[in-house]
Amino acid sequence: MINVRDLDVVFASGKSSNHVVRGISFQVGQGETLGIVGESGCGKSTVLRCLAGMEAGWTGQIELGAKPIGKKRSREELKFAQMVFQDPYGSLHPRHRIGTALAEPLRAMRHSDIWSKVERALIQVGLPASFANRFPHELSGGQRQRVAIARALILSPPILLLDEPTSALDVSVQAEILNLLADQREEKGLTYLLVSHDLAVIAHMCDRVLIMKNGCFVDELTRADLQAGTTHDAYARELFEAS
Ligand code: ATP
Ligand code: MG
Repeated sequence: MINVRDLDVVFASGKSSNHVVRGISFQVGQGETLGIVGESGCGKSTVLRCLAGMEAGWTGQIELGAKPIGKKRSREELKFAQMVFQDPYGSLHPRHRIGTALAEPLRAMRHSDIWSKVERALIQVGLPASFANRFPHELSGGQRQRVAIARALILSPPILLLDEPTSALDVSVQAEILNLLADQREEKGLTYLLVSHDLAVIAHMCDRVLIMKNGCFVDELTRADLQAGTTHDAYARELFEAS
């Protein structure tokens, strides 16, 4: 479902350049959840942003659903992989009602169809349809993250790119959001790429995890490795012992 070959990202500003992603390759099968962990600044979000079509300056090959993806994406291609961020405030305009935020990706549809789809999207993530009339600040953090997930799912993408989706939430709410994500994955056969600092979250959600350091993948662990606490690479061991 996701096939990345030799992905490379260099950010240049003035005379200096920062080689953030260094020729990484990986694949994620349909219905699989791949985790990415690594220290702050190692390039995790940049990888997700390239896949989401939010970053233009990459080289290499990206295939989503066996289709090669170019630097400039069509609207159709942008629907393919949707992103969920750590802070749902980041994707919700403070002065737009929840219904407006959810309707925005649907603007090509008929008005009556849009509103029934918005209502269904809210109910699907466990919120009452009446929340369409609320503003983001009238929701709790967990409820806002539910809206962000509803928005990411509203165009029925096969892939979700999850960038620390529970880090900003209370521990009890984290479990609810992870259960929601797991339920949606089972129901729809979704493929997830999940970045998290929390190894408990990774072990709970992921089939495999890649350990990233300075723009490279240095190790790969299976679910069995995660549960047994086995790591092959010295850096990965350090990371796991620190958590
Ligand atoms: P964290 O765990 O803190 O979220 P990360 O692994 O997600 O870190 P990235 O956000 O991918 O890290 O950033 C990797 C590096 O690229 C950082 O040094 C960051 O400053 C730099 N960077 C990210 N986006 C840009 C940009 N648009 N322009 C220039 N540099 C950038
Ligand atoms: Mg990040």
